[in-house]
Amino acid sequence: MRERIECDVAIVGGGIVGGSAALFLRQAGLSVTLLERDWCGAKASGVNFGGVRRQGRPLEQLPLSQRAHAIWGRLPELLGTDAEYIRSGHLKLARSEPDLESLIAYRERSQGFGLGLEIIVGEEFRRRWPALGDRAIGGSLCPEDGHANPRLISPAFARAAAALGAVVREQTPVDRVEKDGDRFVLLSGDALEVRARFLLNTAGAWSWRLAEAFGEPVPLESLHPNMAVTEPLPRFLDVNIGVEGGGVYGRQVPRGNMVVGGGRGFALDADRARPQRDAVLTLMRDAAELFPQLRHAHVIRCWTGVEGYTPDRNPIIGPSRTTPGLFHAFGFSGAGFQIGPGVGQTLAELVTSGETPMPLEAFRIDRFSPTA
Ligand SMILES: Cc1cc2nc3c(=O)[nH]c(=O)nc-3n(C[C@H](O)[C@H](O)[C@H](O)COP(=O)(O)OP(=O)(O)OC[C@H]3O[C@@H](n4cnc5c(N)ncnc54)[C@H](O)[C@@H]3O)c2cc1C
Repeated sequence: MRERIECDVAIVGGGIVGGSAALFLRQAGLSVTLLERDWCGAKASGVNFGGVRRQGRPLEQLPLSQRAHAIWGRLPELLGTDAEYIRSGHLKLARSEPDLESLIAYRERSQGFGLGLEIIVGEEFRRRWPALGDRAIGGSLCPEDGHANPRLISPAFARAAAALGAVVREQTPVDRVEKDGDRFVLLSGDALEVRARFLLNTAGAWSWRLAEAFGEPVPLESLHPNMAVTEPLPRFLDVNIGVEGGGVYGRQVPRGNMVVGGGRGFALDADRARPQRDAVLTLMRDAAELFPQLRHAHVIRCWTGVEGYTPDRNPIIGPSRTTPGLFHAFGFSGAGFQIGPGVGQTLAELVTSGETPMPLEAFRIDRFSPTA
């Protein structure tokens, strides 16, 4: 017999966005059902690099990113774990004078958002990070950015929501969604029917399916960033490292393992991806140029994930343009881990009050349609 659940809000997708939305909605007293096809946090949210970084984001993301920063600072109180979150600082390296100018220009443009960026060059740079190789000539430090363990934190949001009374169903794919009057009806095979006044589409790289079902096609592309981690090494790095212009990024965890990212893996099918052998070799060669300590390090694991990218690399966040009660949040284009909890809180606000102080205009779902 089919089980039936009635609730205020149904959420499709238990990544960091759906999980945090569930938590904030429960805090606001609404009844919530979160449906996750796999395990909560098993997809992009649980396998990412772990960079908790505001620096370098497009300016239109910074208000949400700042909101998320405040939430990251309250993790133990919210989730009962710090998920190995460290405000280590995020240092973005310049490998040339034009790169340095670009970092300085970003610092100017982002003034007023409270990032506190410091440009550090020359002797001061070498004194503070003697272990970095000679490839970098300086960098921009965001002192309160950092990193965390994605495997721990992403499921923790869904768990905390469940502890507050959200119904969280894992291994429960949503196969069909229809609207029946003012209710959304979600079906998972013959086993479950969920009816809700509001629907959150937080299904990550697969969100385009639900958007399309409500007449809102989005050109979302699945891409697969390459990751690798070394054996534990003597500690040499205390900041999360990025590079102006992209390429390689790296962080060393307190146990000594160095996590590095760069290049792309490939899709096995729509749901799974694998790291690319040549891309991992290139990644380790490039990483060893920045961090000479990696020259003889053993890689103990490499992996990738499935993430949705939009053409302009900004996410889609906000109300549906076709269907009252439906809200979308996806297409984070490789950078949704840090901002995710801020998005979850914003979705909860949109549901409970119909408005939010966060500027969402740049994230409208219809911005890619020919008439937009
Ligand atoms: C390898 C990698 C490295 C990254 N590094 C960083 C980083 O350092 N910093 C950063 O800020 N961001 C990073 N990102 C991006 C970040 O991980 C994502 O933007 C973020 O996790 C997206 O969260 P989400 O909740 O939207 O999606 P997801 O975590 O993908 O969650 C969506 C969930 O929806 C579920 N789902 C889909 N369809 C259905 C359905 N029909 N029924 C039920 N459930 C469904 C999926 O199973 C999935 O669990 C990285 C991404 C990858 C892949």
